[in-house]
Amino acid sequence: MSIKNPVKVLTVPAFSDNYLWLVNDGVHAVVVDPGDAAPILAALDQHHLSLAAILLTHHHADHVGGVPALLERFDVPVFGPAKEAIPAITRRLAEGDQVTIPELDLEFAVLDVPGHTAGHIAYYAARQDWLFCGDTLFAGGCGRLFEGTPAQMADSLGKLAALPDRTQVYCAHEYTLSNLRFAQAVDETNAALKQRVLTETAKRARDEPTVPSTIGVEKATNPFLRYRDPAIIDKLASEGKISSREPIAAFAALREWKNSFR
Ligand code: ZN
Ligand code: FE
Repeated sequence: MSIKNPVKVLTVPAFSDNYLWLVNDGVHAVVVDPGDAAPILAALDQHHLSLAAILLTHHHADHVGGVPALLERFDVPVFGPAKEAIPAITRRLAEGDQVTIPELDLEFAVLDVPGHTAGHIAYYAARQDWLFCGDTLFAGGCGRLFEGTPAQMADSLGKLAALPDRTQVYCAHEYTLSNLRFAQAVDETNAALKQRVLTETAKRARDEPTVPSTIGVEKATNPFLRYRDPAIIDKLASEGKISSREPIAAFAALREWKNSFR
């Protein structure tokens, strides 16, 4: 039996605010949502890694744009959502499926998380406590509803919130500070949120990523997981954003308000 190095997650920034995740053991690597090939190829070269697989969460260009160029250099399986038309996919996945990466001794459970797009999936590595959730759950926020309903997104986020608090949330964008500005406007008395704003602002001032966060932190501070909280519903009501206190109405109003919040 060979002794394996621990598997780690390398952060590869791309475009203006995307994170591409390179899961690796120092020899082999799996990339999640390679919107751009160039920074991934550079990171693979720099760290002497060989690509073993590509994992995709949804069809948007900033998540899949680098796939053709990566496949020119590496003949690897491409895992992605069964319900989305992404031509490069070789293994179509839906909730209940398991992804095994033998080179890295890694396993991911697949979760259906529609809302941002209709077929969006997330990858959960239970042994490592890692969640790769694309544009569904963000640090302090959630993805825009391009192809789904508020009820679908609320249900998807509920699935992710049910994972253990220690789960590391690897989302695909650095939107945290702007998300937290909105969070503070709708959740003014939340002490954990105030503390988080200080912590995350300091990280950005040092040019450090705020991602990953954890499910525990998100449950305490993310308004899109806290939309049933009476204080948030009171705020929505006092601003005239809702006509009932029904939870999905509150969630929909929050998402709508965030779209125009500056
Ligand atoms: Zn997207
Ligand atoms: Fe995106």
